[in-house]
Amino acid sequence: MELRLYDTMTKEKRVFTPIDPSNVRMYVCGPTVYDFAHIGNARPVIVFDVLFRLLRHIYGDKHVTYVRNITDVDDKINDRAVRDFPGLPLNEAIRKVTETTANQFQADVAALGCLPPTHQPRATEFVLPRPDGKADMVTLIKQLIARGNAYEAGGEVLFDTQSMPDYGALSGRKLEEQKAGARVAVDVHKKNPADFVLWKLSSENEPGWDSPWGRGRPGWHIECSAMSAAYLGDVFDIHGGGLDLIFPHHENEIAQSRCAHGTSVMANYWMHNGFLQVEGEKMSKSLGNFFTINELLTTDRFGGRKWPGEVLRLAMLKTHYRSPIDWTVSSLEEAFQNIGNWNDALSPHALSNMPGSYALPDEILEAVADDLGFSKVIAQMHQWAKLSKTGDASAAKKLAGTADFLDLGRSGWDKTLQEFLFKTATDNALNSKFDELIAAREDARARKDFKESDRIRDELAAMGVVLKDGRDADGRPVTTWEIAR
Ligand SMILES: [Zn+2]
Repeated sequence: MELRLYDTMTKEKRVFTPIDPSNVRMYVCGPTVYDFAHIGNARPVIVFDVLFRLLRHIYGDKHVTYVRNITDVDDKINDRAVRDFPGLPLNEAIRKVTETTANQFQADVAALGCLPPTHQPRATEFVLPRPDGKADMVTLIKQLIARGNAYEAGGEVLFDTQSMPDYGALSGRKLEEQKAGARVAVDVHKKNPADFVLWKLSSENEPGWDSPWGRGRPGWHIECSAMSAAYLGDVFDIHGGGLDLIFPHHENEIAQSRCAHGTSVMANYWMHNGFLQVEGEKMSKSLGNFFTINELLTTDRFGGRKWPGEVLRLAMLKTHYRSPIDWTVSSLEEAFQNIGNWNDALSPHALSNMPGSYALPDEILEAVADDLGFSKVIAQMHQWAKLSKTGDASAAKKLAGTADFLDLGRSGWDKTLQEFLFKTATDNALNSKFDELIAAREDARARKDFKESDRIRDELAAMGVVLKDGRDADGRPVTTWEIAR
C-alpha cells in the first residue's frame, strides 16, 4: 500500500516517504486564540485529524508526532483584551482572553471527533531561550541576523527577503512582482517591501519580552518556525494548513526555518485545504453568515436546529479537502441522513458498540491513502449499508470498521445524534411502543386511575422518555414526549 499526498510545493501528488518511519512528523498551524473558532477553522482541524489517524494506522500509534500550535501572542488578542476587560491590567486581561478561547477551542474540536495532537505548544512559552534547550524565537532571530538573513531597523528586526535567492517558491510569487504589485505597504525602514517582521518593540503597556533588540514581541511567522523545530526538528515530513496561509505565512516560515538552520527544505510535503463558503457566499460577520463551531453545535442559528458533531464532521469530509466547500444547510441535512442510514443498517447486527472494534477495510484504506480521497469511501459505505440491511454481516462489519476509523460516531457519542436516531431512523417499533404506552396512560388519566398513569410514566422514564403534560389550543389535555438528556 502506497500513501500518496498532494504537495503544494511541487504541485503534484507524490508517494509519501517519511524521513524516519519510527517517528513520522507533522505540523499544522493552529488557532490564534482571540475569538471562538468559526466553521472555516474547523476544516483543517478535521482534515488533518483524518491524516493523523491514517498515519497512525500505517506507521503505528506510537510512531507519529503531530504538533498543532496555539498562537497566544498577537495584536488581535491585545485589542480584544482591551475591549473585553477594560478594568484589568493588560497582561491579566490577555490571559483571560487566551485561556477561555483556547479552552473553548479544545472543547469544540473534541466535539468534532478530533484526536488531540501529540503536542499543542503555546507561542508565549517559546519566545525566550528555554531551560530544556528546545528551539525558541529569540535564538532563531539571532541566528538569522548572524547568517545575514535579518537586520534591525526602525525598532524592528526584519527578515531580508533578498538574502534568500528562492524566496517565494511555495506561492510562486517573485519578489519583483511583489514590488510592482505594491500591495505590501512600503515602510521606509525596509530594504525591500516584502521584508517581514521577526520582532517588534512593545510599548510599556503592551505584552513584551526582554531581548537583545529591546523589550518587544515576536512576529506571527517566527512562532511556527520555533515551535515546529522545538518538537519536530529542523526538517520534518508534513506541514499543513489552510490555503489562505500559503502566502505570506508559510512562505515566511520556510524562509526563516531554512535560513536559520541552513537546510534546503523545511518540510518535505506541504498540504493545504481549500476555502469554505456558506450557502455560496464568503463567510463574513457583515453578511450575517458567520458561524462559530460552537453555534452550530449548541444553537439553532444555522438551519433552525443544533447539529451533532458527527454530522459536521461528515459534511466536512464529503468534499475533497483540496476543493472549495460550500457549507449549506442541505449538505448538513444530507450528512445527517447518511449517518442515520448507516446506523439503521448496522442496528439489526449484533455489533460491538466499542469504537475500534472492527478493522479498517482495505478498500477504504486504499481510497484514503490516495491523497485523502473521499468519494469512493462514501460510495462504498452506502453500498455496505445496503448489503447490511439484507443481513450481510461482513458488509456490516466493514461499514462499522469504516465509521470507527473516521470516528463517525458509530456508538452515538453525541446526545443530539442519539435522539435523532432514536426518533427517526432506527427503532420505529420502539416509537410505536411509546405511543401505545402514552395512549394507555391517557386512558388511565381519563378514568382517574392515577396509580396506573404514574406507573406508566415511571416505565417510560426507565426507558429514557420524559413526558410533558400540557394543553392544546382548545384547552384539551395533550401529552408529548422527548428523550431525556
Ligand atoms: Zn504557522
